[in-house]
Amino acid sequence: MSLNPIRPWRNIERRQSRQIMVGSVPVGGDAPITVQTMTNTLTPDVAATLDQISRAAAAGADIVRVSAPDVESTAALRQITRESPVPIVADIHFHYKRAIEAAEAGAACLRINPGNIGDARRVAEVVKAAKDHGCSIRIGVNAGSLERHLLEKYGEPCPDAMVESGLDHIKLLQDADFHEYKISVKASDVFLAAAAYQQLAAATDAPIHLGITEAGGLVAGTVKSAIGLGSLLWFGIGDTIRVSLSADPVEEVKVGYEILKSLGLRTRGVQIISCPSCARQGFDVIKTVEALEQRLEHIKTPMSLSIIGCVVNGPGEALMTDIGFTGGGSGKGNGMVYMAGKQSHKMSNAEMIDHIVELVEKRAEEIDAAEAAAASQAAQ
Ligand code: SF4
Repeated sequence: MSLNPIRPWRNIERRQSRQIMVGSVPVGGDAPITVQTMTNTLTPDVAATLDQISRAAAAGADIVRVSAPDVESTAALRQITRESPVPIVADIHFHYKRAIEAAEAGAACLRINPGNIGDARRVAEVVKAAKDHGCSIRIGVNAGSLERHLLEKYGEPCPDAMVESGLDHIKLLQDADFHEYKISVKASDVFLAAAAYQQLAAATDAPIHLGITEAGGLVAGTVKSAIGLGSLLWFGIGDTIRVSLSADPVEEVKVGYEILKSLGLRTRGVQIISCPSCARQGFDVIKTVEALEQRLEHIKTPMSLSIIGCVVNGPGEALMTDIGFTGGGSGKGNGMVYMAGKQSHKMSNAEMIDHIVELVEKRAEEIDAAEAAAASQAAQ
């Protein structure tokens, strides 16, 4: 990412990592930080699983993980990987044969800890399947399931134990001459996860998958993930993220994107800047923002929109957004539309939602057309 010489306080210097491929999606190096989620359907229910994957992908998921605990699941993976719009990571625990089946079924990546699947011969078999089928591997260390000898050595899950576990798994892959791996050291405790990830980042150049595991429900989990993932990303750590929520995977993707957007690490769709509203508001800000969030969900072009209740903050916020609307004084029934920071025209409160949706759609088309023209010029 290029550094901002005018606003240096916005700079995030990303940790240098190797790049691997998860199917067609690069992870690490200078690739965009990817957003992942995981299905919670029964994997053998192919229709339900594909439906959830498609909804997550439409919300912006770059990669989706699917559990493969049994033979029925790895069999279902064949159709799932064939029809999924995004690469699929097969989640495997302990059963090395499921890993081999998942690789054969078209998984782009295997989430498996090589230290948990038995002797070197089994590791070699999984690595061979991964190599034969172009799979990468994610090593997923979890504070809740650390190896017994590490718990005995360290007394409890701690950053040293988690990183040692991760490096032990890495060594098994390296000894098998396999280098297409990324790694996570997740914990539900934000302090533990953040410290473990910081140590891990210094100990390996592998791409890092960030997550605060079992973070909780939509609100609590979002806050916890934003603090944990947000602080790590701010310090440049993390190449792919998953927000774990006890909620619809689509919500996980939305939260993941919002974390990246807040840090300027990735943009997608309309970023709405809105005030909390108060007695000064010239229109119902909360209902309007709710309606606009829904109506603008289909826009993928990055752009900003300010929806501000009155002139106290409206013109200032509009200055920094592509499109803005500021409420007029009480009883006026209309407000001011701003385009590229400048006052443009008045619009009635009653028609403003439809009008703003139209303006955003038009602006998105213009931005897309300009980008396409620039890309074709660059290609000539
Ligand atoms: S911008 Fe105006 S309406 Fe919104 S919170 Fe501030 S004072 Fe209230």
